[in-house]
Amino acid sequence: MTDDGAHDHDDWTAQTKLIRGGLRRSQFQETAEAIYMSSGYVYESAEEAEAAFKGEHKRYVYSRYANPTVSMFEERLRQLEGAGACMATSSGMAAVFAALMCQLKQGDRVVASRVLFGSCQYIITTILPRFGIDYELVDADDRDGWERALSKPTNVVFLETPGNPTLDVVDLAHVCGLAREAGASVVVDNVFATPVLQRPLEWGADVVIYSATKHIDGQGRSLGGAVLGSESFVADTLQPFLRHTGPSLSPFNAWLLVKGLETLTLRLERMCANAEALADFLAEQPGVTRVRYPTRGESESAQLARRQMDRGGTLVAFELAGGKAHAFKVLNALDVIDISNNLGDSKTLITHPATTTHQRIPADERADMGITDGLVRVSVGLEDVEDLKADLGRALENAAG
Ligand SMILES: *Cc1c(COP(=O)(O)O)cnc(C)c1O
Repeated sequence: MTDDGAHDHDDWTAQTKLIRGGLRRSQFQETAEAIYMSSGYVYESAEEAEAAFKGEHKRYVYSRYANPTVSMFEERLRQLEGAGACMATSSGMAAVFAALMCQLKQGDRVVASRVLFGSCQYIITTILPRFGIDYELVDADDRDGWERALSKPTNVVFLETPGNPTLDVVDLAHVCGLAREAGASVVVDNVFATPVLQRPLEWGADVVIYSATKHIDGQGRSLGGAVLGSESFVADTLQPFLRHTGPSLSPFNAWLLVKGLETLTLRLERMCANAEALADFLAEQPGVTRVRYPTRGESESAQLARRQMDRGGTLVAFELAGGKAHAFKVLNALDVIDISNNLGDSKTLITHPATTTHQRIPADERADMGITDGLVRVSVGLEDVEDLKADLGRALENAAG
């Protein structure tokens, strides 16, 4: 790569950073970002190799450590988030695991939001305790609960807001303030909100993680993840962990994700508009007892979501009066919308969390989380919302009859 970084401007707005941030052109001056499918790199001399390994000469040495295409993705996302540094991973779960394990040790304590993506819940409640790491779970809106949990010395707070699949919202400013007093670092899984709609670092979070599989790719092509934080956290704590454990993102997948970032804002505008319209539509349908959409209505939680997020996101959840049988009937009667546990895709996807993403969790704990047998989650895509309404309307009518 010959480019010296002339494409990066602090004064660009987020939209321009998404198109041009991190771009480094080779000597061929290609328009699009190049894909460097190379595991290793060569040196002019033994002296150069020695200097590279001593860290005196900053350059690419091995793609488990860094790769030019992966760097372009990391730098573009870093600029959008306004973070000190960013490192990409092979999946969202690799990002979650690394962000936690790189800073935890035996005897430490983690406080987490109760409603979590299934695998995040598994790491915190099953894997971490095996290494002598204690945990406590708190309901998203339980302000006293957060205060009690964080009145004890704590090392890491891990939370999702909005949470999967109930879309509960955590007050980031409140929890980050308590965490600071407790001496804890706050890790936010910002997948549901996306880097466009919510910026946790501005509310006091220390680390933000993404599953880039979701909205960042957004077209069902690739797994990927990222961890963002301060320069010192990444250089001193995260980077050594990632380098030596190896959950590296493939350069080809990094290229898909860097191109995904270019259209992220545009896709989210349409997906959020569709989700808002679909939430309103669902609230009027017979058999639907409750609609969950973070910014909808006048509850305290909806007001908080409107302060904390630019828009409510692309996920809508709703409850059906007839439980699991009712939910299955509706899912099976759909024509346009696909049954899939993935989310953030251009295609609208629907899932029944109690029997899929959260089926591993015991029924009583699921009930505590608000994941009833009648709960259905929709990841709203880019189709014409009128076709989505017609599809859901038909399916709900069929299921009722
Ligand atoms: C999908 C998801 C993850 C895990 O990401 P993968 O890319 O599937 O590993 C973590 N957290 C949330 C909220 C997710 O939706």
